[in-house]
Amino acid sequence: MRALCWHDVNDLRVDDVPEPELVNPRDVVLRVTLTTACGSDLHFIDGYLPTMREGDVIGHEFMGEVAEVGRKVESVEEGDRVVVPSFIGCGSCGYCQGDLWSLCDNTNPNAALQEPVLGDTTAGIYGYTHAFGGYAGSHAEYVRVPHADENCFHVPEELDDEQALFASDAWATGYMGADFCDIEEGDTVAVWGCGGVGLMAQQSAALMGAERVIGIDRFPERLRLAEREAGSETIDYTAVDSVVDTLKAMTGGRGPDACIDAVGMEAHGTGPAHAYDRAKQQLKLHTDRGEALRQAIVACRKGGTLSILGVYGLMDKFPLGIVMNKGLTVRTAQQHGQRYVPDLLEYAAEGEMDPSYLATHELELEESPRGYDLFKHKEDGCVRPVFVP
Ligand SMILES: [Zn+2]
Ligand SMILES: [Zn+2]
Repeated sequence: MRALCWHDVNDLRVDDVPEPELVNPRDVVLRVTLTTACGSDLHFIDGYLPTMREGDVIGHEFMGEVAEVGRKVESVEEGDRVVVPSFIGCGSCGYCQGDLWSLCDNTNPNAALQEPVLGDTTAGIYGYTHAFGGYAGSHAEYVRVPHADENCFHVPEELDDEQALFASDAWATGYMGADFCDIEEGDTVAVWGCGGVGLMAQQSAALMGAERVIGIDRFPERLRLAEREAGSETIDYTAVDSVVDTLKAMTGGRGPDACIDAVGMEAHGTGPAHAYDRAKQQLKLHTDRGEALRQAIVACRKGGTLSILGVYGLMDKFPLGIVMNKGLTVRTAQQHGQRYVPDLLEYAAEGEMDPSYLATHELELEESPRGYDLFKHKEDGCVRPVFVP
């Protein structure tokens, strides 16, 4: 079958690879009908995440049609149309039972690669380094889905693939970020980043009753999407002297009640702190540029919530003293998709939220390296390229 493979830093190619097979009786093999690139893929494409190997099939956000079913699978049948969260849950460990699916204890066979860095292991994830399990990814004609009963969610018939796809990751992640904020009526929520996850966080915050949502980015077309789709007010951070001052001015001097970081370690900024971060990151002295997160910490109102969705490694200059003195609540996680996907599919089916506009570019799988180029450089208004295997 054809699949998009990682060969080296910034070297992706569509290759012929063997088709996946059922390994465990609880597996299914899915014929992928739609899959998308995620911002976190850029971290290993750019070489910031180790343990990729030449020939690894990448991609973790996807949906498809069940093609083969293991003999112990109960909830799906051949031909079913399903969407699958990017982190793999086992359904039976204490973390899965506690709805903390991305912390699953059983689905990362390479836990030993993570433990020295994280002190423990996350769940496994498709197509995302050997430290995260070494599972083959979804930018392929077929993908193996372990623990199918826990990880396959039936897509309501009335939804297009584009409406269901983002429940796999971008929407679930953004929704979780808003959920972390325990939004109450009258709240103002600021979101750094108007990419896929940032837009989903903004729309979800509005859906949960936030009175004002403020989106922060530098690309005019993304800011327009935030205004149009989420009803957000927006800040173009290249057009203001200080994002923090702007947010304070917009909120009567207090700052937003909750701040969501949907940017992570590839954050861009404008000030000297950013230039310093970038130089250090390029020298590999530390892995993160933390401009967005630092702004969020400084801007957030006293006693507010900081919800971190961006992916980080080690970060220096993290102003913990501000977090402590202002009494901020910090909440963060990789996405617990299985907890949210059923609700998201229901919202979509009821017409309350439609994330399909994120799919700005639809390409054949053969064209996926070009899709990643568009995505990485945010050319041609690209929010998310989607690939049809
Ligand atoms: Zn992702
Ligand atoms: Zn588990």
